Amino acid sequence: MHKFNPLAATLVIAAATAAVVAYCYFFPEKAFATIIIYIATIVFLPLLLFVLAWTQKNKTSNLIKPEVAENLNTEMIIWSDDFSYVFINKKLRMLLGISENDSNKKAAVWKAFGINAPDSKGFEKIVGSKSYESKFKNADGTITSIAWSTSLVKKTKKKCLYLSTGFNLTEIKKMKVNLASANDFFNSSMELAEIGIIISTDRKKFIASPELIRMLGLKSNSISLNDFRALIHPNDRISFDSAIKSASSEIKSIEMRIKSNDNNFRWYSYRYKSIKGTDNTLPLFGGALLDSTQEHEKDALIERLAYIDEVTEIANRNKLMNAGQEIYDTCRLLNYSYWIIVLDIDRFHIINDTCGYANGNYVLRNFAHILYKFVTPGGLAARISGDNFALILRDYGSDELPVRTVKSIQEEFAKLAVDELASINLSCSAGFSRMPEDGNSFLDVIEHAEFALKSGSVNQSSIYGYESSMHDSIIFTTEMEKALVLALNNNEFSLFYQPKIDLSTGRLMGVEALIRWIRSDGTVVTPDAFVPIAERSHLIGRITEFVLNEGCRQNILWQKMGFPKIVMSVNFTSTDFYQADLKEKIFEALVKSGLEPQWLEIELTESLALNDIDFAVAQMKKLRELGVKLAMDDFGTGYSSLSYLQTLPITLLKLDRSFITDIEHDNIAYEIVASVIRIAKSKKIETIAEGIENNVQESILRMAGCDYAQGFLYGKPMPPEELQRFFEQNLSNFKT
Ligand code: C2E
Ligand code: MG
Ligand code: MG
Repeated sequence: MHKFNPLAATLVIAAATAAVVAYCYFFPEKAFATIIIYIATIVFLPLLLFVLAWTQKNKTSNLIKPEVAENLNTEMIIWSDDFSYVFINKKLRMLLGISENDSNKKAAVWKAFGINAPDSKGFEKIVGSKSYESKFKNADGTITSIAWSTSLVKKTKKKCLYLSTGFNLTEIKKMKVNLASANDFFNSSMELAEIGIIISTDRKKFIASPELIRMLGLKSNSISLNDFRALIHPNDRISFDSAIKSASSEIKSIEMRIKSNDNNFRWYSYRYKSIKGTDNTLPLFGGALLDSTQEHEKDALIERLAYIDEVTEIANRNKLMNAGQEIYDTCRLLNYSYWIIVLDIDRFHIINDTCGYANGNYVLRNFAHILYKFVTPGGLAARISGDNFALILRDYGSDELPVRTVKSIQEEFAKLAVDELASINLSCSAGFSRMPEDGNSFLDVIEHAEFALKSGSVNQSSIYGYESSMHDSIIFTTEMEKALVLALNNNEFSLFYQPKIDLSTGRLMGVEALIRWIRSDGTVVTPDAFVPIAERSHLIGRITEFVLNEGCRQNILWQKMGFPKIVMSVNFTSTDFYQADLKEKIFEALVKSGLEPQWLEIELTESLALNDIDFAVAQMKKLRELGVKLAMDDFGTGYSSLSYLQTLPITLLKLDRSFITDIEHDNIAYEIVASVIRIAKSKKIETIAEGIENNVQESILRMAGCDYAQGFLYGKPMPPEELQRFFEQNLSNFKT
């Protein structure tokens, strides 16, 4: 539609008026009629045109009410295919930056449709598809995307009228772009940070992030729990199991080794948690895996210092306590069970003292390596201190496992005794307990295993399992140990002396010093009640030192008092005897007291000597060099092998009381005693019978050729003053 032009209209009207005036001048007779027609034309023509235009306008606007379309909050165009009619609503006009009366609405329509040069293809695209997407630069310079839906509103012979409704995609597109880039950003970040993500809704099937797929060289993003677990280092699987089981909303972290894309185990820090599901969502379990191999390598030195034992290169006590508590917690959580075995190398100090520190360290290192061979997945071998080691083993239900394992260790360990160590009997003792049931913490459990070890540590190669009944005795032992320390500090120990009689002369030839603990309330405690405990807690050294010095002091005192010289016997335990500086200690006691060595006798038991026969012989020889006497105590209670009389440089054999008790009535007992005495004599070893309580026993033993006797028949162990009276009363019998 052409617009009304006032100038053109004025010119047209002026020209027409000039023509009418000229016509009337030349033809005056037609002037009246001409003027009437002219006026009529001037007045009615515009009216006619207006009516025509108004009619035309109403014909199209009736199809859709533009005023409704005008204010719709969506882009809208009503257009005829010849563009004789175009309506662009306010929303779209604003985007296009045009006014309501823009003269080139056709161009605006094509722009809105994103088509620069209209052609038939472009047209078909718009009207032929239900949704046509356009993109154009809007008034503020940003790109707008609109999905157009165009429908044919009216079709006449000459033209078609279309209604195009737009749906602005710009924001959605932005959102899409943002979402896509958020995902990209996430994946790129994970790739840059080298963080793998693994999640699961059922803890059976896991979804791995692209970076995790790369890190571990997985075949797809879906992996089953079992397949993932198979990639984890066997020693770390239990940590992972407990992570799966214990995951909560609180974030936790474990370190584990996982087989990676280079087919090697690499360390990963796994930070995990679980998220509770709501009505619409499933619970999620999972976390992030970060390759921590480098940190582990960097930390290796620190770890070595903190957790690795320098000498043996296996875990140290710190590591044992940390790892042990973790295993203990896992046991509680997953109903697993582990054994804790503590091992002690028997008389290790002797190896150190006699073979030197280098050999000592060699033994420790090799012992550690033997232990290491027995470690099962998830277990540990550690050096607790000195010659104390620990082994943590998974309990697969066999109660024999600890004993079997320790026996295998003992066998392997014994084989190390070659070259410089050939003279040493390499053995170890063990105590074991089971976790979690044997304690409320790992510390508890290991203490119980240690207690079991101590309970048998007097003997070599002992293996003891902890039993809950031991608990009472633990308390008793601890209390007793404390009391013993106090007793030593308060000088509550004293010596009682039991006379030893020469059977051929009836003379007092010596006394045995027997320790008594006289408590502050006056009660007398006999040695059986505290010596074994003192031995296990290493208090025995202080006790024996007292006995030795006091025995020597008392003996020289009696000599100074003018009594006949007698032999003072003192009892030594295994711990005392195997001390490297034993000779020096005895020599010191002799020097200090001024007692001549032949008046001192050391009593040793048979089993003590058999613990390590080579060392025992060497040690005994040293004592013999000093000039002190050596008695084998309690003969008959142990192996009672007479062949040892040949090997051990002893001077006296003490026949145990158990032999003597039946000697009156039992001929066999008599024969045994008589032959032992005979063999001893042939080896120039004197004999003494313990526990003689009556004259019949005395005469039988005298008959059998026994040299000396000791027993209640002559006197019970008594304080020195009493023995003094005994000396005096029996003076007539003594010929010094
Ligand atoms: P032992 O060395 O065999 O000492 C002899 C024990 O037999 C003493 O018991 C003594 O009282 C007892 N006895 C002696 N004659 C008779 C008798 O005719 N009949 C009966 N029924 N018993 C008799 P005691 O003093 O209680 O000592 C027990 C054990 O304690 C000793 O056995 C010894 O192994 C140990 N012991 C004693 N004093 C010491 C010590 O100072 N150091 C160490 N390491 N052990 C000691
Ligand atoms: Mg004795
Ligand atoms: Mg005895």
